[in-house]
Amino acid sequence: MCKGTLYVVATPIGNLEDITLRAVRILKEVDLIAAEDTRCTLKLLNHFEISKPLISYHRHNEEIQTEKLMERLLSGQDIALVSDAGTPGISDPGEVIIKKCVENEIKVIPIPGACAMVNALICSGISAKEFMFMGFLPLNKKSRREKLIEIEKSEKTIILYEAPHKVLNTLNDLKNILEDRKVVLARELTKIHEEFIRGNISYILEKADGLKGEIVLIIEGKNENSIDNSFENLSLEEHYEMYKNQGLEKKEIIKKIAKDRNVSKNQIYQKFLK
Ligand code: SAM
Repeated sequence: MCKGTLYVVATPIGNLEDITLRAVRILKEVDLIAAEDTRCTLKLLNHFEISKPLISYHRHNEEIQTEKLMERLLSGQDIALVSDAGTPGISDPGEVIIKKCVENEIKVIPIPGACAMVNALICSGISAKEFMFMGFLPLNKKSRREKLIEIEKSEKTIILYEAPHKVLNTLNDLKNILEDRKVVLARELTKIHEEFIRGNISYILEKADGLKGEIVLIIEGKNENSIDNSFENLSLEEHYEMYKNQGLEKKEIIKKIAKDRNVSKNQIYQKFLK
């Protein structure tokens, strides 16, 4: 008998337009959808007028449900695996069944789509050449400390997920260990209140007080020469001083400030004349 296929299907992280045509087709074609939260997925399915049997597959029943799903896959049924939002397996359930499929030579096919960490990274302005995704920092003190040390040592860009009510605590921990490295806080991606806050950790800490919504933190690697947005927190005079301290000549400084601020050189000259 022919074995079925497991499709790992990414769903939107906010904006429903971010589902792919292929994802919609696969969700319509499979025999069964395994969903992290069936009520949440039902809303998505209703929006796209898809009617399909759902089975719950979340962190607390992953082992048991994997057995059930394996029986179906081995008997030839096709299954789509989805999480509440984004890409399954990325800080979301998925790993257990995917491993089991690989062991049993069942095809696992990715259906690509939204993933919060990738989209936060690509628009952060911090280097995406080499990066390390660390998901949520552990709450256990010892493991958390170990992860923070790892972050401190990393020359690669670090990506963290964080819940809004824990973000101040996390930023404080980061500030203690990293001093003032550059950070980008990406919030509510693809949604109405989408926002990128860029600056050093102290600046982000100030701005993060009372923030709501879903959050990704992008942290510059040690000694990384990422795009410098720190001028955003500087007055024109401080901006000038920053380049002067780097040993640049007046003409070059004006040129650089104009470029950073996306205005003409003339506007910068005028401001200094005033
Ligand atoms: N699997 C998902 C993915 O592909 O990104 C991540 C799931 S994880 C349980 C949820 C976390 O992802 C949130 O706490 C937040 O850190 C991040 N996240 C999810 N959606 C987001 C969004 N629209 N904007 C910013 N961060 C988001």
